[in-house]
Amino acid sequence: MICLGIEGSAHTIAAAVVSSKGTVLSDVRDMYKTVEGGIIPIEAAKHHRNVKDVVIKKALEESKEKKIDLVAYSRGPGLSPCLHVALEAAKGISEHLKVPLIGVNHAVAHLTSGLLFTNAKDPVYIYVSGANTQIIVLENKRYRILGETLDTGLGNALDKFGRGIGLGFPAGPKIEELSKLGKYYKLPYTVKGMDLVFSGIVTKAINDFKNKKVSKEDLCFSMQETLFSMLTEVSERALAHTKKDELLLIGGVAANKRLVEMLSIMCKERNARFFSVPLQYAGDQAVMIAWQGLLEYNKVRKHIDIYPYERLDQIDVEW
Ligand code: AMP
Ligand code: MG
Repeated sequence: MICLGIEGSAHTIAAAVVSSKGTVLSDVRDMYKTVEGGIIPIEAAKHHRNVKDVVIKKALEESKEKKIDLVAYSRGPGLSPCLHVALEAAKGISEHLKVPLIGVNHAVAHLTSGLLFTNAKDPVYIYVSGANTQIIVLENKRYRILGETLDTGLGNALDKFGRGIGLGFPAGPKIEELSKLGKYYKLPYTVKGMDLVFSGIVTKAINDFKNKKVSKEDLCFSMQETLFSMLTEVSERALAHTKKDELLLIGGVAANKRLVEMLSIMCKERNARFFSVPLQYAGDQAVMIAWQGLLEYNKVRKHIDIYPYERLDQIDVEW
């Protein structure tokens, strides 16, 4: 089977064609970016609306597939105005091609495509994207969230900090670059059992930039060291509690080399195997949406709609 996936839950509108063997036949993306401010949902949706047709057309052409069997779209979680655009686009193209339409959960798609792209079998998942930060395992056909952020996602924390010191969106990659020139500066460290709290640290870092004139480089380095250490601590505890011996890092922040380094050192020390989703599939894309559509094709389908607040642990894992 051949599936066209459409992603548009947040900053990126994307389309991809994937076969049920897991072969990526095309992968086209267009990301909404800003020079200074953060992501404005209505503006991002406007961006998606402007480019969606071109993105989808390109994905279909590049795949060289004559016959598409299924269209899948990202139904949530995400920003409502953006989710609407992806849904409209998916509906339009599925009606045009006269093929079934299926909505999939964006977070689940990150997890299952992580298995497709690595050799991980039954890992502790570390899901770190813009809006999400969760430590997850699959147990009895349900995803169990062992720990998570109590406020903002790790990516959003980095982006908000970046915005506060004058970096545009997305700030994560710029913070990673600047951190290479920085040295350690003490920031608060807030782990609550298996959960994480980021916003106080972000506020403190921005204040110290403005009031104490701590350099951008030192703050970037120290933000990474602090936030990633917090995540590494709960990840290690998750491995210890579950007795699993694999860790899989997924989501946009998985692109960060320092985070990958910290988690892999921790895993090595515990004789666990560490996997990180390949760089090009860390952030949002439609390959994972198409893949999840193929996995769920024969299963009970949810009503075609958007689900902006759907959580991973509400989903029956039937595939
Ligand atoms: P996603 O929502 O999964 O596409 O992830 C987007 C998030 O990943 C944004 O908050 C980015 O700032 C963050 N991100 C992307 N690349 C990096 C990087 N190299 N280091 C840290 N964060 C990153
Ligand atoms: Mg994502």
